[in-house]
Amino acid sequence: MRAACVIGWPIKHSRSPLIHGYWIKRHGLDAAYRSEEVAPEAFADFIHNLPSHGYVGANITIPHKEMALELSEPDDCARAVGAANTLWLAHGRLRSTNTDVEGFTANLDDAVPGWAKRAGEAIVLGAGGSARAVVYGLIERGIDRINVVNRTVDRAHELRRRFGDAVQPADWTALPGLLARCGLLVNTTSLGMAGQPPLVIDLSPLPAHSIVTDLVYAPLKTSLLAAAEARRLATADGLGMLLHQAVRGFELWFQVRPRVTAELRELVETDLKK
Ligand code: NAP
Repeated sequence: MRAACVIGWPIKHSRSPLIHGYWIKRHGLDAAYRSEEVAPEAFADFIHNLPSHGYVGANITIPHKEMALELSEPDDCARAVGAANTLWLAHGRLRSTNTDVEGFTANLDDAVPGWAKRAGEAIVLGAGGSARAVVYGLIERGIDRINVVNRTVDRAHELRRRFGDAVQPADWTALPGLLARCGLLVNTTSLGMAGQPPLVIDLSPLPAHSIVTDLVYAPLKTSLLAAAEARRLATADGLGMLLHQAVRGFELWFQVRPRVTAELRELVETDLKK
């Protein structure tokens, strides 16, 4: 039996076992996917001995993503983003990638086909770990002006140093002016997440062709997405990204490319409501 796991500290909140467990059953595989709670001081030893723990690979979540990058052979994507969330063994070597990038772009491809052509200028709210994956994905898809708006503007400047001139750092006071010429608005901050302060933005300056997407998926319909829908703008939610980012790991470990279906979405949605 082939097995993979998600490694985090803590790990209880992860929906990865639900997603991968669904695909294992759906494809009738002799496989397993488990959660592993591993403390930072034990992480290096754990991932260097994945086979002796019974695993062919793993997803990596908070707080281990940067350490996973350092301890493995990353692909270009993980190296550029500066964090790895998926590990696999290739001919005895521990390889890594960052599937948040393709999770973000595949979700938009699914929800708003042709989005990259019509986006024009983008705004990314936030400059943390997920913003790095989003900015890399946008640049890969040809978006050449990305306004990164962050409370701590220094972190937005760090993204410019990492990704180059396509990134335009800005603070929140610049937002109304930026919205007026933006075709794609992405929230990568934790604002609007259950238990966090709300994300309060007046979307009225956004052009009518704009697309709005939120990485936050609890609640599923954030107040940002509700406000975008009220203006009849195209939207993509954070759950879609979560499901799409899981596809590549499953394929690497179990050699079957799974699909993000309405049935899977419903299963995870039901779990999120618990
Ligand atoms: P992170 O690295 O901790 O970054 C958090 C960002 O939120 C920073 O830019 C931070 O600004 C900003 N922020 C936090 N509190 C704020 C406040 N009160 N006012 C203004 N800005 C605030 O987190 P992350 O890993 O990027 O994750 C961010 C969110 O994305 C989380 O909700 C996470 O669950 C979600 N996410 C979803 C997916 C998915 O698949 N859907 C994937 C990854 C992440 P400062 O720099 O000023 O602190």
